[in-house]
Amino acid sequence: MPDTSTPRTELSTLGEFGLIDRLARRIELADPSSLQGIGDDAAVIDPQGLIQVVTTDMLVERVHFDLAYMPLKHLGYKAIVVNLSDVYAMNARPRQVVVSLALSNRFPVEAVDELYEGMLTACRAYGVDLVGGDTTSSTSGLVISVTAIGAAKKEDLVYRHGAQENDLLVVSGDLGGAYMGLQVLEREKAVFQQDPNVQPDLSGHDYILGRQLRPEARQDVIAMFAELGLRPTAMIDISDGLASEAMHLAHRSGLGVRIYEEKIPLDPTTISTARDFGLDPTMCALNGGEDYELLFTIAQGDYDKVKGSPHFTVIGHMTDQASGYQLVDRHGGQHELRAQGWDAFLNKG
Ligand code: ADP
Ligand code: MG
Repeated sequence: MPDTSTPRTELSTLGEFGLIDRLARRIELADPSSLQGIGDDAAVIDPQGLIQVVTTDMLVERVHFDLAYMPLKHLGYKAIVVNLSDVYAMNARPRQVVVSLALSNRFPVEAVDELYEGMLTACRAYGVDLVGGDTTSSTSGLVISVTAIGAAKKEDLVYRHGAQENDLLVVSGDLGGAYMGLQVLEREKAVFQQDPNVQPDLSGHDYILGRQLRPEARQDVIAMFAELGLRPTAMIDISDGLASEAMHLAHRSGLGVRIYEEKIPLDPTTISTARDFGLDPTMCALNGGEDYELLFTIAQGDYDKVKGSPHFTVIGHMTDQASGYQLVDRHGGQHELRAQGWDAFLNKG
């Protein structure tokens, strides 16, 4: 929340139209496919002969975010990024977003400005236009719903269901960091609630805090596919942990999957922080959430295109359906993969 030195202007002094007007003045359309943005009854988009993809995500205060440690600017940025990640996961390019807000009078105009600053920063970073939305009141918390619209050539789209038996399973970046970042934030929040005079100790955790508070969508990976002439056979973004996403790919493709624990990419800070919390780093990658990396399958013949890349790690392969969903541990032991997902994992603590 804004500190006490920030002026507080009640939303009621602007009213809904005033607020929308104020937002519209900050927004410029950049993509030629955005024909009409905020200000009419509907936005107008020219598909330019491409196939359009549409995805939406709702973020609810105290369910998906906690304003005690999530600055509104970061929240706005993240709300956009998580939607763009779903568009990239189709191997498509996002071009527009619409944003709906439910706000209580707890939030002054300055808070809305902060939120939009984060959203517009993300829009600029990813070359996306904010072309509309809806604004309504809420009796308690903040609700943000973002819809992203993207486009691709029909032949470039990558679905969850395209994987073939023996395809390699590949992941971008590293996993588990966002979950460990959340653990650090939750711990410091609990300390602060006990004694508000204690300053939060977030030192040494920059990487994982950034993964939680300011995630990025892998726009660069989509660009690499184009450069490499690589078309994944199936793809999904990792929002709920590696285990459940790998199972989605396998299930939708009518296959099994085998993941090798020793191959799962983990950042050293994720490993050391997990150990400090008495958690298994592999479990954090499998069942933590919000990494927003891309998980995809490629034909074995395409291995040379990802081999040696610092951005990609081959972590397993697709098997026949009867082999099920398997995790092979560091000692060669085989375990059934389970999608505990985000909530179940949290409740264990
Ligand atoms: P209507 O009553 O016809 O739905 P609104 O008054 O809700 O119209 O919206 C007017 C314009 O402002 C529309 O172009 C809409 O997309 C845009 N808009 C409304 N709320 C938001 C918001 N929170 N963010 C961005 N654009 C918004
Ligand atoms: Mg409306």
